[in-house]
Amino acid sequence: MTRNSLHELNLKVEEELVFAKRCINCGLCIAVCPIVKTFGLMEFLGPRSINVSFTRDKTKFAYKNDVVFKCLACNACYEICPKKIPTGEITIYIKSKIIGAQK
Ligand code: SF4
Ligand code: SF4
Repeated sequence: MTRNSLHELNLKVEEELVFAKRCINCGLCIAVCPIVKTFGLMEFLGPRSINVSFTRDKTKFAYKNDVVFKCLACNACYEICPKKIPTGEITIYIKSKIIGAQK
């Protein structure tokens, strides 16, 4: 990923964080996430916790939670979310930050 595209991604995720902060903790997304169903919440935070943790401390979360690599970015959580939070896109951003930090 080039510096420009990462910069664009950063700008994009700043917009997405505005949505993430609107999470009302309803938990509907947990019920439809295929990774939660397969691994359980002990192995995968689930879309709700990802949004809550990410908005609390974006930098810390981006570099320490490689659990997001389990996310398929399938958008099932987005489809059911009453606030239309794009968790799949957010995890793609986090993955890019982790990979970038390892270079
Ligand atoms: S996008 Fe990721 S967090 Fe959301 S339902 Fe799919 S696998 Fe789960
Ligand atoms: S469905 Fe949306 S609003 Fe509800 S807990 Fe999940 S991310 Fe938050």
